[in-house]
Amino acid sequence: MVGEDAAGLASAADAAADAAAEAVDPDEVLRHARALIAARSENPGGTEDEAAEVASGILTDLGAEIRFVRSEAGRPSVVARIGSGERPRLAWNGHLDTVPAGDPSTWSSGPFEGAVVDGRLVGRGACDMKGPIAAALAAVAAVGRAGLSFAGTLDLHLVADEELAGTHGTRVLRDEGLLDQDAAIVGEPSEMEIALAERGGAWVTAVAHGKAAHGSQPHLGVNAILTMSRFLLRLQEVLPDRVHALVGSPTVNVALVTGGSAPNVVPERCQVDIDRRIVPGEEDPEEVLAPFRRLVEDLVVERPDTHIEISLREWTEAAETTGDSAIASLVRDAIAAEAGAPPPFVGFTGITDARYYINDAHIPTVIAGPGSLSLAHTANESIGVDEMVTAARAYARIFVGFLGTR
Ligand SMILES: [Zn+2]
Repeated sequence: MVGEDAAGLASAADAAADAAAEAVDPDEVLRHARALIAARSENPGGTEDEAAEVASGILTDLGAEIRFVRSEAGRPSVVARIGSGERPRLAWNGHLDTVPAGDPSTWSSGPFEGAVVDGRLVGRGACDMKGPIAAALAAVAAVGRAGLSFAGTLDLHLVADEELAGTHGTRVLRDEGLLDQDAAIVGEPSEMEIALAERGGAWVTAVAHGKAAHGSQPHLGVNAILTMSRFLLRLQEVLPDRVHALVGSPTVNVALVTGGSAPNVVPERCQVDIDRRIVPGEEDPEEVLAPFRRLVEDLVVERPDTHIEISLREWTEAAETTGDSAIASLVRDAIAAEAGAPPPFVGFTGITDARYYINDAHIPTVIAGPGSLSLAHTANESIGVDEMVTAARAYARIFVGFLGTR
């Protein structure tokens, strides 16, 4: 009898997940995504206020308990609670800000218009990540439409400022003690693959110091730009020989360069800002900086007038979580049910707010959302309408599966 009861419970849970997934309304997904895109939230340059109003309006209609949590600068995150208030509790995180739209003439339709072209919704934030947020909102609506309510609690964290490191968004939620769920999903565009790890970043500044001289007598000076050039040509040497199973190798990119003072002066200073991406396991900033300094020492041996200072401007941790968690297997099963095949576990090349849940709050967390990261931040950013609908159905299954119903 016990076995039969267990089987009966399992099939009741499956039936609830099926009913929630079937209740997703494709028109509603698209409507929410377009409304969010129309509410500009460029970062830097704007705020998330308008997008937060749109999201909280939708969530109020769905019966959520809503709070605006603002950073000291007043930037809003929407924290919405749906369900009983009891455990289990699941967080779903998506950011309301977008990168700036850039030059509108590089877009085939207005970046805030939300045109649908060949089955794809076009607009700033379409995939990163107003489309994924629309999918989550439509999933919540579908659960209600199926006549179900959560036995546990869903916390939606629709946050500010992810694009500039989350200082005004998820970090504020962390500081307020709001990251205390049993599991979390960050809905960044992963093409509905499941990312279990992400890279971090070390922003390194190198300053070459030379000696100014009259431009007609360069032999009397030390050219800081040439010193820097010799350093940059060998920059790949600062990378360690390591490969992470999910996110691959560390990378290095020279991002910004400034130097010199006038066309007729030997430059005495040259500065570069370097973006060194780190992988999980690289935890000590000094270890990451050491090869930069060794390269400088090598150059000094070759040319004693070489003088380059290395410093760390900012450090953002990498993050990694296990694939053995309940949430990882539930997400995998739900996506398999909607997409036809189980998605792979992968790494995420960019930095996301998942690191706050994983590293700071020690919550089992996966990154899984519709849309492709390769289209994020581009002109004509887009997402397949069918991708959003599939994600909404998968999220409905995940919410029901993790939280249970009553
Ligand atoms: Zn994003």
